[in-house]
Amino acid sequence: MKICTKCKTAKGLDEFNKHNITQDGFSAWCKPCAKEGKKRWYAKNKAAQKQRVINWRARKVEENRDYLAKYTRERYLNDNVFRARRLSYNLLRRCLNGKAKESSTFELLGYTLQQFVEKFEDEIFVFKMYGVSFHVDHCIPLTWFIDGTPFNLVNDLDNLQVICADENREKKNVYAHPVPKAYIEKVLPHIKPERISKILAALCSAG
Ligand SMILES: [Zn+2]
Repeated sequence: MKICTKCKTAKGLDEFNKHNITQDGFSAWCKPCAKEGKKRWYAKNKAAQKQRVINWRARKVEENRDYLAKYTRERYLNDNVFRARRLSYNLLRRCLNGKAKESSTFELLGYTLQQFVEKFEDEIFVFKMYGVSFHVDHCIPLTWFIDGTPFNLVNDLDNLQVICADENREKKNVYAHPVPKAYIEKVLPHIKPERISKILAALCSAG
């Protein structure tokens, strides 16, 4: 018998891992305690590693603040896709911060934050309940629209959906989610020619 220095329980030697640097040739902690300790050590290291990445990113942002602000501003003005993504991101963030009650109109988008929340509150509620992170996603991907498409069309409520973040990463703009027929008719002239057949396929699958 040997007493585990961690849980202070007397256990048979087969309950301890062999360890060639200790005097008796067995680890000071019993197997379950050793397993737990290892798990905790990895968890702690993982958190520390994550923190290091966060710190590094914050430092980089700080170092390049002016450049980033200029870059973001220019891209916002010139890049339709970037602007559309930014807008939908801001929409979701404001909605999550409980700012929906402001009921402000998004003039550029042609609907109010209230309308946005009303459309998605059920999904958002479920995602929050399960603690799953989620994104606002465009059913017809942003990159499928030709340059210069009015972004109220791109960001139409009919083209938005709330999906879990992992799904969004996997999707990578390779397919469109079904959208209402009326919306397709409205945007078809703004879709890149090579994407039109895929859009029509999405329409058929929507029924
Ligand atoms: Zn123990």
